[in-house]
Amino acid sequence: MLKLIPKVDRVLEWPEIAALLPGHPRPEVLMAVRQTLDDLRAQVLGGAGGAILERDAVIAAVMACLRRRSSSSLRPVINGTGVVVHTNLGRSPLADAAEEAIHSVASGYSNLEFDLQNGERGTRYSHVEDLICELTGAESALVVNNNAAAVMLALSSLALGRQVVVSRGELVEIGGSFRIPDVMRQSGAQLVEVGTTNRTHIRDFSTAICDATALLLKVHTSNFAIVGFTAQATIAEMAALGHETGTPVMLDAGSGCLLDLSSFGIGGEPTIRQYLAEGADLVTFSGDKLLGGPQAGIIAGKRDLVGPLKQHPFLRAVRIDKLTLAALEATLRLYRDDRSALAAIPTLRMLTTAIAELDRRANRIIKKFGRSLPETVTLLKHRGESSAGGGSFPLLQLPTALIEVKIANASPQMIEAVLRRSPVPVIGRIHRERYLLDVRTILDRDLSALLAAITQAAEECR
Ligand SMILES: *Cc1c(COP(=O)(O)O)cnc(C)c1O
Repeated sequence: MLKLIPKVDRVLEWPEIAALLPGHPRPEVLMAVRQTLDDLRAQVLGGAGGAILERDAVIAAVMACLRRRSSSSLRPVINGTGVVVHTNLGRSPLADAAEEAIHSVASGYSNLEFDLQNGERGTRYSHVEDLICELTGAESALVVNNNAAAVMLALSSLALGRQVVVSRGELVEIGGSFRIPDVMRQSGAQLVEVGTTNRTHIRDFSTAICDATALLLKVHTSNFAIVGFTAQATIAEMAALGHETGTPVMLDAGSGCLLDLSSFGIGGEPTIRQYLAEGADLVTFSGDKLLGGPQAGIIAGKRDLVGPLKQHPFLRAVRIDKLTLAALEATLRLYRDDRSALAAIPTLRMLTTAIAELDRRANRIIKKFGRSLPETVTLLKHRGESSAGGGSFPLLQLPTALIEVKIANASPQMIEAVLRRSPVPVIGRIHRERYLLDVRTILDRDLSALLAAITQAAEECR
């Protein structure tokens, strides 16, 4: 059978393949033919039948390969999951202002590390420091690549070779193998666990403090919750103890909230400003979770603790890049006014959209799509729940409107698979044998691509 696989030069001479040449660079066509023939060889060796070697099949495979090669691997998808900060789908979509800021510095030069006032060398960190201090009440601030880096940098700068006291109930794994005990080890700090899984008291911390103690650390438990008979030392208690004994208190706040969302039924999460006011000396949090900006790690706190971080050699390895910085500054500027933040930052807007509005939106979409979809497709509205994601508010369930997509003769699994492979992939979920899209996380700009994807899915399921 291997002998039946055509040679590369032969295939390139086939008129159908030669016809591709005006529209595609020759090296691309050559590469597609080579890859296709390699694939065919592997399939034949794997026991595939002769049909895959038929001329038409080979031509179709070359064309498909060429299409795959010319589309980006990383591309936009439609988030119909209802998980607002979806880690696998790129976490927070950016505000328009952040996107514009990226554009404005991306293709030219900028004053990234140049002080325009004095005409001398400046630092990239200065562009957002004052803004973060203004929004959080911190004395000093620093931004790095992500929150994991912020925690590593802070621990290795403030606690190298010394002890860090943490509650057993907060020794969490965040996902992506970020585990507090491992991070501690990697940063050269020595972990001292106190308390129990469900209950830790401030006296557990005070008995653990000794000459070798560098930090008292509190970790936001993010994506899980301990409920029932529980107790954790508060930041205020830890700060009182810390000040008494001269031990700084650090908080890994995880998601990091700059705005009180309790009036939207999303309560119980203190803002970074509140944590600092309660006495935390250093707080770290993410830029792309609840904050709704680009991937970044933000460190805010006392000047004498942030200062050494700015001098630390590890900082260079985790430094923030200029596009991220541009987007972060633009996002943070929106927080100067609560109303503009809620309106312009997609993550906040999606989290705080009321159920009445989601209902109206679902009705509008069903009506509008219904006019152009084939009659094999039925769209139905249901009620359900969305979640915040991103390790924030693990128990929160936000009432939402769902659109069920039904296609005649197609199972929910089939619909899921076909929509997932659309030119603009649609990611939904199957619940109780229904294929569902959550209206909360579908952006307005997704709607035409969504309609096209469902239309094409109906074609394919015929
Ligand atoms: C998400 C999270 C991290 C990691 O933050 P990244 O920005 O993803 O690096 C660290 N700690 C906590 C508590 C988190 O929730």
